Amino acid sequence: MTLPVMKNFINGEWVESKTTTFGDVWNPAKGEKIATVPYGVKEDVDMAVQAAKAAYPEWRATPPLSRARYLFRLKEAFEENFEEIARVLTTEQGKAIDDSRGEVRRMIENVEHATAVTTLMTGYTLEDIAKGIDCYGHRQPMGVFAAIVPFNFPGMVAWWFLPYALVSGNTFIVKPSEQVPMTQAKIFEIVEEVGFPEGVVNLVNGSRDVVNGLLDHPDIQGISFVGATPTAKYIYERCGATGKRVQALGGAKNIVGVMPDANVDDAIPSLITSFFGCTGQRCLSGSILAPVGDIAGELKEKFIAAAKNITVGSGLDEKTAMGPLAGAQHKERVLSYIEKGIAEGAELLLDGRNYTVPEYPNGYFVGPTIFDNVRPDMTIASEEIFGPVLTTVRVPDYEAAIKLIHNNQYANGVAIFTRDGDAARDFVNRIEVGMVGINVPIPVPVGYHSFGGWKKSLFGSHHIYGPDTIHFYTRLKAVTSRWPTGIKAGAQFNFPTMS
Ligand code: NAD
Repeated sequence: MTLPVMKNFINGEWVESKTTTFGDVWNPAKGEKIATVPYGVKEDVDMAVQAAKAAYPEWRATPPLSRARYLFRLKEAFEENFEEIARVLTTEQGKAIDDSRGEVRRMIENVEHATAVTTLMTGYTLEDIAKGIDCYGHRQPMGVFAAIVPFNFPGMVAWWFLPYALVSGNTFIVKPSEQVPMTQAKIFEIVEEVGFPEGVVNLVNGSRDVVNGLLDHPDIQGISFVGATPTAKYIYERCGATGKRVQALGGAKNIVGVMPDANVDDAIPSLITSFFGCTGQRCLSGSILAPVGDIAGELKEKFIAAAKNITVGSGLDEKTAMGPLAGAQHKERVLSYIEKGIAEGAELLLDGRNYTVPEYPNGYFVGPTIFDNVRPDMTIASEEIFGPVLTTVRVPDYEAAIKLIHNNQYANGVAIFTRDGDAARDFVNRIEVGMVGINVPIPVPVGYHSFGGWKKSLFGSHHIYGPDTIHFYTRLKAVTSRWPTGIKAGAQFNFPTMS
């Protein structure tokens, strides 16, 4: 059977890459090749940049509300194709179909929010900063932007950026993850139907050469990146060297603290989703469970019982709660972390190695895995595993939990479970992490609140989507204005006198 070969979408057309190097796309539940992806070259990037650059002047001059109308149409088209996008996503990425539906819903949410451009993009003004002089500021678009995105959210992540960049008047290029290019291909078929002006939205497939082509291209103004921390740091530094705007989101190691007063029965379902949902491959997945004091015993028992009940299988089966890992290599990486945990002396309570799903013998499955009595200096407590592996680091008290969180090199998300409002408020106030959950273990901000970690989880000064985003995709023009006039200030009006 001939496999589909992914194409690029440039200047409103589907075109073949100029490359001679290709990679495979896999169905992780079946361990089967399902498509071929070009590892694009600099010529592909240049074609896309030229198209985006040529489209920019007219797109910038299109009134903001007219630009938003394309997004209104796109939202409707996404709703009509909702289930199909989710199914393509699960087929290539592996996650449970309900997780894919959630991802598509979040993608659409950003399209919806970006339609508010007429209020999001307004500047400011102050009259009479001196006699007869007014001062105002416009936010103006900058040109061509690009997004480079990871394998774990093949649909949503590009759309954390694209709607806002476009609606504020820029043109755009998306570089999907080479592991999961089919979802954006499906999404861009819908983009094509909606009929944006040629060159306004473009898609280039590939891996490092395409990334470097984007980073070095003189006609790209800025890069939005999401991926692992070493790549994020590299992107940030290279954009610095070439003078581009950059927001580079990196990895995570999210800690969930459970206070002795927490209601464990109430917390368990959402904790299970946090640690094992999307097979642990969310940047806001729980990774370390930190029971405070003597709640550890109850938590351990209830966690193991609930984790054993998780239905693991193909993401396309409605009953599946946890799909396979996204790739064979990634499965090996997760397994190697489990081996390291055992070797370093952590206590393995639930072992997800050698997990088989009889109907899918070649799938990249790892079952829910739970470690207890993990020390903070162990590899599994300090490095990002990005799989269904829960590491329990017991802490004696609240201050020890804070210390554990602050010693972590990442600071993407964190959560605390408690019934004590005083502890919760102190936690929010002191904790040095970008996204905080109070009795909410996956604290992903909605589209109209900005998203971003601190420390090694984000390089750059702007969080993404929500209010921060327009500042990233626009620059401020400050105008100080005075008009020569023959009218004596105030003389034309009969100002009421104060009585
Ligand atoms: P990755 O860094 O390997 O790849 C991300 C993108 O960068 C891909 O498009 C890839 O082609 C490109 N890339 C990879 N290595 C490169 C290199 N050396 N030079 C140039 N380009 C390169 O990340 P991934 O494995 O696809 O995704 C998983 C990571 O993403 C995890 O660390 C996860 O925490 C992180 N992530 C973070 C967030 C967040 O919001 N902070 C969200 C999702 C995923």
